[in-house]
Amino acid sequence: MQPGLENMAVIGNELALRWEDGIESYLPLDFLRKSCPCALCAGEKDILGNVYKGKAKLGPQSVQLKRCTIVGGYGIKPEWMDGHDSGIYSFSYLRSLDLDVA
Ligand SMILES: [Zn+2]
Repeated sequence: MQPGLENMAVIGNELALRWEDGIESYLPLDFLRKSCPCALCAGEKDILGNVYKGKAKLGPQSVQLKRCTIVGGYGIKPEWMDGHDSGIYSFSYLRSLDLDVA
């Protein structure tokens, strides 16, 4: 079963996540932003499997967190300083981003 998130905090330029099974993940904010799963950032596939990526340019504000909230008990929604907030990172996706855990 997917462990829930017990706590999260921004420490320096990393998002620290503490999971209910005691594991702690530290994800660099720029890596987190580049891993944004929303359709704009991750791209959308057409029926032939071609991926069309968004052309969003990342600036210094793009990798700074304004706020980060837990949504629906299954994921987090970061709000970035550049106003981008459409990516919802599920707990299982976050765990898969932490290569030490996965
Ligand atoms: Zn995005």
